[in-house]
Amino acid sequence: MEQLGFDGMPTRLVTATPSKLGTFEDCPRRFRMVYVDRPAPPKGPPWAHTSLGSAVHNALRSWWALARPRRTPEAARTLLHGSWISEGFRDDRQQAEVRERATGWVESYLREVDPDAEPVGVERTVATKTGTLAFSGRIDRLDDRDGELVVVDYKTGRSPLSTDDARGSAALALYAVATARTLRRPCRRVELHHLPTGAVYGYEHSEESLARHVRRAEDTAADIVRAGDAVQGGADPDAAYPARTGTHCSWCDFRRHCPEGRAAAPEKEPWAAVIPREGT
Ligand code: SF4
Repeated sequence: MEQLGFDGMPTRLVTATPSKLGTFEDCPRRFRMVYVDRPAPPKGPPWAHTSLGSAVHNALRSWWALARPRRTPEAARTLLHGSWISEGFRDDRQQAEVRERATGWVESYLREVDPDAEPVGVERTVATKTGTLAFSGRIDRLDDRDGELVVVDYKTGRSPLSTDDARGSAALALYAVATARTLRRPCRRVELHHLPTGAVYGYEHSEESLARHVRRAEDTAADIVRAGDAVQGGADPDAAYPARTGTHCSWCDFRRHCPEGRAAAPEKEPWAAVIPREGT
């Protein structure tokens, strides 16, 4: 059991990724099913949007691994087809339509990318420790811009993004902190690169805003420890890890095990998030 220290007690670190911290903040019950219950309850069927996102990320990673002369926008088609994941789609026709759409996104995006601007890292793992938290995560791309490192995160969802999403992302802020400490170089700028629109949303953190995100992550880590300790002390797991319902329950892998979540939001087809919205 991970445990935080109290006065006079040795402190043990909570190990966490952005995904682990975010899952607890979104819904402690879901956290319990993902990270605590063993064996873990079976998940629902795979999502098409997860397949799409993974394939696009894999294609972009592979693009940077190509020899420089082969890094062309057109190379994206071969890479995306090679990394395609077919799970979650309604049928072959829908899958082919989505793959073609995604190919267009990646080709357009890569037309704006300088193939000579070799990233410092692609899917680079960084890690850092605070007094109570051992954080690690994998960054989609780490750029060097005039001597400063920039965290780049690819997004493939159809929802529009904004600069606020870059500013408010705990994951991006923690990546910046971990990058600076791992590579011993300044890193304050974080960017979301939205593939469907080609838009880039960036934010330049200050020391203060990064410290705020770290404090919040430590608070979440403390809540995780408290919930675990409560169950160990005999508390009802459903009370220690309460259901936090909302529209996100439609997309939860564990809703079949959660009556509150099923009541709170309708079930979605596995391909619901890859169907273009009207006007897009
Ligand atoms: S369905 Fe909703 S409330 Fe239930 S575990 Fe999933 S996210 Fe939490």
